[in-house]
Amino acid sequence: MVDTLPSGLYIVAGPIGNLSDLSPRAADILCRADVVAVEDSRVSAKLLRHAGADTPMVPYHDHSDERVRAHLVDRMANEAVALLSDAGTPLISDPGYKLVRDARAAGRLITTIPGPCAAIAALTLSALPTDRFLFMGFLPAKSKARGDALGEVASLRASLVFYESGPRLGASLSDMALALGDREVAVCREISKSYEEVKTGTLGELAAFYQDVAPKGEIVVVVGPPGEKQAMSAEDADSLLKEALTRLSVGKAASEVAKVTGLDRRALYARALEMKGA
Ligand code: SAM
Repeated sequence: MVDTLPSGLYIVAGPIGNLSDLSPRAADILCRADVVAVEDSRVSAKLLRHAGADTPMVPYHDHSDERVRAHLVDRMANEAVALLSDAGTPLISDPGYKLVRDARAAGRLITTIPGPCAAIAALTLSALPTDRFLFMGFLPAKSKARGDALGEVASLRASLVFYESGPRLGASLSDMALALGDREVAVCREISKSYEEVKTGTLGELAAFYQDVAPKGEIVVVVGPPGEKQAMSAEDADSLLKEALTRLSVGKAASEVAKVTGLDRRALYARALEMKGA
């Protein structure tokens, strides 16, 4: 018999590929909880077996029916409900936010069992500055929306962390080079698994490298912060372009601003076309 846990919500981080990264405390909570809310029961069944737990599972996603969430929050009044993702830390590009929100609103006990997270693991491998970073999650699938999302953060003095898939990696790196300039980047693949790999270079170099080869497995992209010149001029690039466009063609305006600011000419060209409404 295992001791029962105080009732409430237990947010349990699982491994991101290497089952041995499940912490002893996480395994203990999974064994002693009354129920485990999971994304995919086939994936989580493997982890529960590894932990020696035969705790029942219930499916949960943030887009689940409101009644499913309300029922789980009700159960937390008298039972220990564990929340587990397919990989890593729940709520990080994974379900859980709405469950935690509603549990908090209902006054339930909420605690977390911290552990692996691919974004943090990638930062540690990237050899890029880690004192300030922004987690961007998955970028939009369409190139235009991707460019817009990148444009919003281009002038931030921080490393940027993205989750990405193999088939989209080349296109995403190209869009990043356009919007962010040719910064340092680390592509971290299959972290904690047998084929863990980190490839570093500039955005332009790795965009070219991955253009025609979609790598297999799971990927985190870490982009370094802008250089002094880039950070300063990104903020002013629009006004410089606007002014240059009153005198010059789109191509010449982009070249002029690229020269002054050190920003990527192709990105400026695309931005100038946008400003012209082309
Ligand atoms: N909650 C997870 C966490 O804490 O990292 C992330 C879940 S998100 C749905 C899955 C994405 O995380 C993958 O597409 C990939 O970008 C990244 N990822 C997960 N495991 C990884 C690994 N072992 N190596 C590299 N990236 C990984």
